[in-house]
Amino acid sequence: MKEIILCKFGEIVLKGANRSTFEAELLREVRRRAAAYGNFSVRSVQSTLTVEPLDADCDMDGVYDTVRRVFGITGVVRAAVAEKNLESILSVARDYLAPALAGKHRFRADAKRSDKRFPLKSPELAAELGAEILRSFPGMRVDLHTPEVTVWVEIREEYAFIHADQEKGAGGMPRASAGRGLLLLSGGIDSPVAGYMMAKRGMEIEALHFESFPYTSERAREKVMTLAEELCGYCSRIHVHVISLTHIQEELRDRCEEDYFTLLLRIFMMRLAERCAARFGCGALITGESLGQVASQTLEAIRVTDGVVSLPVFRPCIGMDKEEIVTLARRIGTYETSVLPYEDCCTVFTPRHPRTRPVAAKVLAELEKVDHVALLEEAFAGMETETKVIFDGYR
Ligand code: ATP
Ligand code: MG
Repeated sequence: MKEIILCKFGEIVLKGANRSTFEAELLREVRRRAAAYGNFSVRSVQSTLTVEPLDADCDMDGVYDTVRRVFGITGVVRAAVAEKNLESILSVARDYLAPALAGKHRFRADAKRSDKRFPLKSPELAAELGAEILRSFPGMRVDLHTPEVTVWVEIREEYAFIHADQEKGAGGMPRASAGRGLLLLSGGIDSPVAGYMMAKRGMEIEALHFESFPYTSERAREKVMTLAEELCGYCSRIHVHVISLTHIQEELRDRCEEDYFTLLLRIFMMRLAERCAARFGCGALITGESLGQVASQTLEAIRVTDGVVSLPVFRPCIGMDKEEIVTLARRIGTYETSVLPYEDCCTVFTPRHPRTRPVAAKVLAELEKVDHVALLEEAFAGMETETKVIFDGYR
């Protein structure tokens, strides 16, 4: 029996004149991903995106799983394809719907007739489908208001599709439809979640990681690369830029007041991030900061670090509790990697009493104690890049 995947568009249907651009992005992304699972035809037909296998060895489970992670799609369902006559529809429904009905008792049958030439109207078609289910599955009864499962027949241009309830898609906006952002990616729990949230709103994600070799280890870097790979399940491709802060940290340790150390380091991070963003065409910085979580995330500290860059800084986790961030990290699959116990450059030479209410003028005076221009140049010149990509076809 031939199967097809039907995907429902999200917000892009509201985009008026820009809709076709968003739709084209979405089709490109689904095509690139589907190609990894076989020979598929991906089309947009009557406000539905269809993914149709063109030969027998297409991996339907694989493609379904990846389509569920594509931003811009709000609902996904696998459907059986039937000829457009009642006999074929009911016979396919009997076989195809058995697993979806197993163990359930209350159902509802619905029908959608996009092709108005089909002789039965939607309510008549739904009644026929309902009657067939009652005949073929003795334990089932109709419940229009609190069904455990709803079964559908859709009459489309070429074929009829039969399916049970759709599952939720990833939501959000299509990849790269909202510009490119540079994610400051640590090995922690928060920053991968922040990257996921902005990617969901249509940002293409580049990542920047700071390390402090030999104070941080090769394994700490590998952990960040694993996180980037995990994010690729949603973002498809991420360039991970790595900058060493070792010399900067040693200079700060030797020349500046310890209490200001964390904040000074964050100023370097933000300035380096802005340079990296300029080089790779990113219009925003993204961090995993959450208000008040640690000393560098108080309102006063954030004002200081925001003040040294001119790009917008997106902090999607800013209003979330740690527990909420953890829940999301588990759902997107980055949590287990994030909690592996490797050190981050932020935990090298941490002050005993970091400033939570820094005075901007004092911070800038401390910064003058090091040759910050030369240190920035040196760190930026040493930047390395690794590319993580799951699906082919990206420029
Ligand atoms: P987490 O590590 O996930 O994101 P955190 O609570 O440990 O969160 P901080 O260490 O204060 O927070 O870092 C705040 C943000 O600064 C991080 O979310 C991340 O965006 C950025 N950041 C911190 N360390 C690094 C790093 N080594 N490389 C790149 N970005 C970093
Ligand atoms: Mg961290």
